[in-house]
Amino acid sequence: MKKEVLLKTCYSLLRNTTPLESDCGKICGGKCCKGDNKTGMLLFPGEENLIDSNMKIIENENGDKLAVCDGKCDRNKRPLACRIYPLFPVIKYSEGIEYIETEFDRRADCPLLKGEYKITRRFDNAVKRVGKYLLLNSETAEYYRKLSDEILEYIELEKVLKNL
Ligand code: SF4
Ligand code: SF4
Repeated sequence: MKKEVLLKTCYSLLRNTTPLESDCGKICGGKCCKGDNKTGMLLFPGEENLIDSNMKIIENENGDKLAVCDGKCDRNKRPLACRIYPLFPVIKYSEGIEYIETEFDRRADCPLLKGEYKITRRFDNAVKRVGKYLLLNSETAEYYRKLSDEILEYIELEKVLKNL
């Protein structure tokens, strides 16, 4: 599948679903939209051509592309990272078989991570389906696996620190 088609499909999977039944931005004052001009949302390969053209695109030290916004955007043109946050479809293995499970994205600080709020099943399922689509293009899949591995490392590190 072409990466742009794949990404647009992911956008549409998430179009009518949100992490909570109510607006989670009211809990934290929209914390995840308050970066500065050096932080940004990681973009999947080819995504820079699909998002709001008012966003600045920067590259981090690893060569990853990030979109930097001013805290406002056209919701229909926001990056996939914003749409799936605070979850991430992590790739796991059981007896050699690959499967996808959602985990909280530990790389940022969202109040929903504390577990006091129930993420809707609809959102959770949509994020899982996004993971399946991201594997349908080799370039997208390679990048997605790298991000998934990073999140798994965070989770492992958390476990180690808890047991210290
Ligand atoms: S996803 Fe988390 S950080 Fe972002 S608005 Fe909702 S509660 Fe706040
Ligand atoms: S692109 Fe939109 S949704 Fe994403 S952080 Fe910026 S304002 Fe928030």
